Amino acid sequence: MNLEKLVRPNISKLTPYSSARNEFSGVASVFLDANENPFNEPYNRYPDPLQRKVKELLATIKGVKPENIFLGVGSDEGIDLAYRIFCRPGIDNVVAIAPSYGMYEVCADINDIEYRRVQLDDTFGFAPDDILAATDDNTKLIWICSPNNPTGNAYPLDLIIQIANAFKGIVMVDEAYIDFSDKGSMLAHLAECPNVIVLQTFSKAWGRAGLRLGVAYANAEIIDFYNKVKYPYNVNALTQEKAIEALTNIQEVETWVKELLDNRTTLAKCLEGLQCVKHIYPSDANFLLVKVDNPDNLYDFLNKQGIIVRNRNRVEKCAGCLRITIGTHEENEQLINAIYDYDRK
Ligand code: PMP
Repeated sequence: MNLEKLVRPNISKLTPYSSARNEFSGVASVFLDANENPFNEPYNRYPDPLQRKVKELLATIKGVKPENIFLGVGSDEGIDLAYRIFCRPGIDNVVAIAPSYGMYEVCADINDIEYRRVQLDDTFGFAPDDILAATDDNTKLIWICSPNNPTGNAYPLDLIIQIANAFKGIVMVDEAYIDFSDKGSMLAHLAECPNVIVLQTFSKAWGRAGLRLGVAYANAEIIDFYNKVKYPYNVNALTQEKAIEALTNIQEVETWVKELLDNRTTLAKCLEGLQCVKHIYPSDANFLLVKVDNPDNLYDFLNKQGIIVRNRNRVEKCAGCLRITIGTHEENEQLINAIYDYDRK
């Protein structure tokens, strides 16, 4: 991989903003460098721009080095920055499996980048050759979401590695739902695939969507570019504080995941017995894609009962489908009871 050739020329020669706290790494007791207010400790101070404590803890848990980690305002920041680092507006393009997470295309549109979709097959799989055939000399990114939203399936790692080895651009592997999957993470293969960026998030299994904290893992040169392009203090002090709390109590996450996987099995079984349910797709995530009779009607009915699911009826390959997040046992029971009543109407 020739990173210098892949990165936009203006980013390659960018002199990044150097914040006051960036330049300081020793011990000091008087901070008169950043025009802060000396009152209202500790939130009067700008946060660590490189989130060193969070990265140290995360690196140990994930078996990577801190320099392989970028932290952003949700994975959405990691997605947008990939366009801003690599894709020349009006010239470059990206290739993505379809359907997949909507922000890849929204960010492409915002950045004026052509978005090429390669439709999944009827079992939501793809052939690496079809993805590669959609690329050309101006293709900078390939998007693979695994487990995929909204289809729920994870892809075998060897398929992703095959694409990474054959493609001279960057392969973006979005693993937002990886904690619910037993198919394995690309994190273990970062060293052999220097052109892969793995995105993960605190929003799903980690139960902290409100914090807005996403992670990009990649080789240190790519992470350097992320750090140059991000806002100086992108991850706020409260988020860093809460992330450190989360990372020192990971058993909690393991307990949640186990319970949600049990609930996924139970919910799928209960849904199977309902009249309007036609098919439940296998899931490696914390949601089920469910094909039903008259999805718009059922969606409206559930809405009126105060139960909100995601209507995917108009998404390619998902006609007839609702996407249902796995909730608590009680929430899932409410959903099942409501659909039971709907069937009886
Ligand atoms: N990737 C995928 C596949 C998602 O489904 C979502 C959110 N629904 C995100 C990324 C965004 O996550 P975050 O909250 O970290 O921005």
